[in-house]
Amino acid sequence: MAIRGIILDIDGTVVLEDRVLDGAPEALTTLRELGYRLVFCTQQNQYSDRTLSERLRAVGLNVSEREIVSAGTVAVNAIAEKHPGSQVYVVGSDSLRDRMARSGMKVLSDRQGERAEVVLVATDYDVNQTRLSAAVEAVSRGAAFYVTNLDRGEPMKDRIIPGPGSLAVAIAYTAQRRPTVLGKPSPTMVSAVQDRLNLPASAMVVVGDQPAQDVKLGRMLGAITVLLMSGVTTEDSLKRTSSSYLPDIVLPSVREVPDWLDQLERQL
Ligand SMILES: [Mg+2]
Repeated sequence: MAIRGIILDIDGTVVLEDRVLDGAPEALTTLRELGYRLVFCTQQNQYSDRTLSERLRAVGLNVSEREIVSAGTVAVNAIAEKHPGSQVYVVGSDSLRDRMARSGMKVLSDRQGERAEVVLVATDYDVNQTRLSAAVEAVSRGAAFYVTNLDRGEPMKDRIIPGPGSLAVAIAYTAQRRPTVLGKPSPTMVSAVQDRLNLPASAMVVVGDQPAQDVKLGRMLGAITVLLMSGVTTEDSLKRTSSSYLPDIVLPSVREVPDWLDQLERQL
């Protein structure tokens, strides 16, 4: 068996919002039975990896905490390692603030945010002008500036709200500084996935629904890339996708992955 590890996206790949995609539980079971090691690489940052795995298990997907590599956890670890004990201001969820504090960082309140040494922008359902301007002030004064991921929007039940990418762009445009991305597709995320699987690039496959995130991550890893049509990508958007984000193969959904891998393994 030439392929040994499979890196799967979560939203648009095995679930869509809170619904499990048809055939996903069976596909994961088959892949495990065939002996592949699975890692779930997600832009999620408002829940801990434990909570993420519990939420997946609650909807019938057998995923353990150790199999999750999330943008939130990767961001907390990367910042705690690079700026140990520094004052950080988080435009994001309470959970992300808590995890940042537990990593030894000094988490500042909205009122103190402008004097932060590090600013992290993530998914924030309660963002307001106070938060954005505190981040702008800190970044303008030279704080290290990070964003978990560049998603434009977060899909809610009946609408889309601005995602971390859009919040970071508002801050970046005002402060005239660019943020460093820590989630997919970034060198930080590539290292996190490599550390978790510890496999050569030729033994890994990346499966996801977003060319600019999942396919790009796969390209950076040097892995084989699979784009699924079960999430945000449409036939139309695929035609307009830059050639640098085009996958090795396009499949309708994760259900088709085990058979495709079987064919691939025969060719390798
Ligand atoms: Mg996705």
